[in-house]
Amino acid sequence: MSEPSVFTRILRGEIPAEIIAETENVFAIRDIAPQAPVHLLVIPKTAEHRNVVELAAADPALLSELIGLANAVAAEHADGDFRLIFNTGAGAGQTVFHVHAHVLAGGLSEGSLG
Ligand code: 5GP
Repeated sequence: MSEPSVFTRILRGEIPAEIIAETENVFAIRDIAPQAPVHLLVIPKTAEHRNVVELAAADPALLSELIGLANAVAAEHADGDFRLIFNTGAGAGQTVFHVHAHVLAGGLSEGSLG
């Protein structure tokens, strides 16, 4: 068995983090190293999907549930406008191989991905 991911350990209460919202299968936390005024992570409770491509292929309903919770936390913690980022692969900056979406909001520059 591989080691549980940091997100699984948060879900189990082994690493402290406030769960700011959840649905049956998905939960949201604040990123420990925010890259924007609002930087939240939305994460399936299961660790079985390593990235969004695997999640979309295996369980589109769970991906839809994740996007719905991202929308809800963006409405609650920002003005409802947000970027949804799935780093996919180490070369793209993914460090935790338990699929998660970054919800970035507030103070984002217009018309750029920077
Ligand atoms: P990735 O680089 O895989 O796309 O994103 C992983 C994210 O998880 C990073 O933005 C990182 O700051 C965040 N992270 C890593 N460890 C922890 C932790 O223990 N608590 C919280 N809240 N976020 C974490």
